[in-house]
Amino acid sequence: MDDINLVALVEQFADEEKCQSYLEALRWSDGVQCPRCQSKKVYRVQNREQYDCDGCRYQFSVTAGTIFHDSHLPLWKWFLAVYLMAEAKKGISANQMKRTLNISYKTAWYLCHRIRKAMQETTPSSLSGTVEVDETFVSGKKRHVGHGYRGNKATVIGALQRGGQIRLQVIPSTDRKTLHKFIHEQTAPETEAIYPDAWQAYQGIADEDTRHETVDHNQDEWVRGDVHTNGIENVWSLLKRSIVSSYHKVSKKHLNAYLDELEWRFNNRKNPYLFRDTIRRLIEAPALTYAELTA
Ligand SMILES: [Zn+2]
Repeated sequence: MDDINLVALVEQFADEEKCQSYLEALRWSDGVQCPRCQSKKVYRVQNREQYDCDGCRYQFSVTAGTIFHDSHLPLWKWFLAVYLMAEAKKGISANQMKRTLNISYKTAWYLCHRIRKAMQETTPSSLSGTVEVDETFVSGKKRHVGHGYRGNKATVIGALQRGGQIRLQVIPSTDRKTLHKFIHEQTAPETEAIYPDAWQAYQGIADEDTRHETVDHNQDEWVRGDVHTNGIENVWSLLKRSIVSSYHKVSKKHLNAYLDELEWRFNNRKNPYLFRDTIRRLIEAPALTYAELTA
């Protein structure tokens, strides 16, 4: 992230007013607009961080109708949390967030989840070019069970466009139907090549303009020409290191949300405006209630 570093963050967003101005510029780049009636005839209420709509008389603040509104956290804590999550290559745990922001664990946990939710790509574009596909297993959180317990393992599938983006998803099974569905949803029809592992359920994924080749790890074959899955395997090691170092064990229920966070960071690894773009997502993000999360 070139758009911000920790020192700049502290200087730039030292008080609520500065954070509010930043949000205002991001939310209403061409002038303040009433969130209720969309009128632009809006006046600033003197000496208060409020606006008054001339159309419908609604009085509102820059956070009205956003995720920030119902939160008792000051904006600068939100901003710092966003920075830490966007910056942390291996993620940051709710416990670390709790200590860094001096807030309760519950608040930190909820905060992280809301930021994670905003990082979720709602309309992802299709991958194309050369795409590596692979599955991995992630063991989830399960207390008070013996060591050999396998019941809470989740299967994650990933697709990586070489030099481009990743898509990650928890899948219910590794059968042909599930794998083909994932690949068809995530890749463009004109994708040049798909390189999964040798698992037979991938057979038949090729068509007239898409090659399908595999290397057979069981036969000790890892690379043949440009046919390999090294890229997606690097993503798996990143995922596993995040889970070990930051999230410890992730519950199966929330695994997709963690995958979304990893995806967002990975896909924006060259984006110099990652901080700004994440804040913008939060402005637009739908509310995520504590009840929904813990249901
Ligand atoms: Zn209005």
